[in-house]
Amino acid sequence: MSHKRGLRFSKATCPICGSKEVARDDLKGDLLCTNCGNVVTRRETRAVGKFDIAQHLKREGNMDFGMLQKATGASDDKLFGVIENMVRMGLLQEIGGKYSLTKRGQRWYRQRLGQEWGY
Ligand SMILES: [Zn+2]
Repeated sequence: MSHKRGLRFSKATCPICGSKEVARDDLKGDLLCTNCGNVVTRRETRAVGKFDIAQHLKREGNMDFGMLQKATGASDDKLFGVIENMVRMGLLQEIGGKYSLTKRGQRWYRQRLGQEWGY
């Protein structure tokens, strides 16, 4: 098995040249602009939790992927993974590209909130 150095394009824009051809280096987690070569190091390790997402959705009502990403500061992959997970658990629903908490999700959020502050 070889360890390939995978480059995948991300949704980021290069802050230097404005190019949208910014790829992620999977090994290092950095973003690399394929146009000017600028390396954009993001807070890639920032974990996004289900609770974070629920909190934002509770406040905003519904948000699309880009809004959630901006609010949480998470990378595409991480955020997408957590959202998918929450949809599968029945905590989130997606309507017309916007995510919102289901009834179950709201209940889950309140329970978690109680845990956060309760002890
Ligand atoms: Zn650039």
